[in-house]
Amino acid sequence: RLYNEVQELRGNIRVYCRIRPFLPGENVKQTTTEYIGDNGELLIANPSKQGKDVQRMFKFNKVFGPAATQEEVFLDIQPLVRSVLDGYNVCIFAYGQTGSGKTYTMTGPHSATEKEWGVNYRALNDLFHISWNRRDAYVYEVCVQMVEIYNEQVRDLLASDGTQKKLGILSNSLPNGLAVPDASMLPVKSTSDVLELMHIGHSNRAVGATALNERSSRSHSIVTVHVRGMDLKTGATLRGSLHLVDLAGSERVDRSEVTGDRLKEAQHINKSLSALGDVIYALSQKSAHVPYRNSKLTQVLQSSLGGHAKTLMFVQINPDIGSYSETSSTLKFAERVS
Ligand code: ADP
Ligand code: MG
Repeated sequence: RLYNEVQELRGNIRVYCRIRPFLPGENVKQTTTEYIGDNGELLIANPSKQGKDVQRMFKFNKVFGPAATQEEVFLDIQPLVRSVLDGYNVCIFAYGQTGSGKTYTMTGPHSATEKEWGVNYRALNDLFHISWNRRDAYVYEVCVQMVEIYNEQVRDLLASDGTQKKLGILSNSLPNGLAVPDASMLPVKSTSDVLELMHIGHSNRAVGATALNERSSRSHSIVTVHVRGMDLKTGATLRGSLHLVDLAGSERVDRSEVTGDRLKEAQHINKSLSALGDVIYALSQKSAHVPYRNSKLTQVLQSSLGGHAKTLMFVQINPDIGSYSETSSTLKFAERVS
């Protein structure tokens, strides 16, 4: 309850920052992270220009430093995830340059152990757990869709035949969060079902000319969890949905150096990330007009952005000083929407 009140005050949008650690084998130079406060303060500096006024303070709802564990992060957002069972639409994003930890936060590292599981496994696990606890009073059905948006085209990642057919998006108001009705919708009952689905989605994502890493940083991937709950006493039903979004890398692509397909990709990514920024900004300003129609990404996510929906963005940071300029533009994006 308390959580809901806090949400109401903030227009249902929260922005968290997560700074990944230096990785084993990474040539550790200097970090841009000067200071992390307990109340969401983050002081960023560019140590190569010491002496000049290059420190900047940012304020988030919360900052997770390099030592934060997957469990700690999940515990914080657990109430948000659980509100899906009460009929809310929830959207959780990871934004940041390639290599900043978006996939780590949302999914976990490649072949993650349970301890390393990211938000999406933990969220589904938790929903199964709670629905089991409530089984005497409610029956919950949980279904999952998984799509990718690449070059402004929506593709089904759970198609059984691995086909990459392009999918349409429903443009009307979407009270149940079903924006891509033709994407495979698969029922899940257990964590092992979920692991299996994620595996299928992952391997479908690899289809195509470019290598998986390359492709996954150039496209948005969206896991949508649809929950339908029935009150066993009254027969009343409730629907909620959870969108878990691993966004394409936000890095600026030098236009003078790329041409052809790569340039097209970069333009689509820029366009959709700025459309997302515009939507969240409009919502945070309580603007009467929210420009959902400007990208496929915001169209797919419309039901979980605005209205009574709850939105959480993880702004991911690579600590290395070599990433300073990307970090700085990532933080500017975050500042606008928080
Ligand atoms: P992105 O999806 O933004 O491109 P990744 O999630 O793939 O970035 O992260 C880049 C690398 O850093 C991966 O090897 C990942 O396992 C590692 N990594 C990211 N965040 C963390 C973290 N919080 N703790 C440990 N390793 C991390
Ligand atoms: Mg990634």
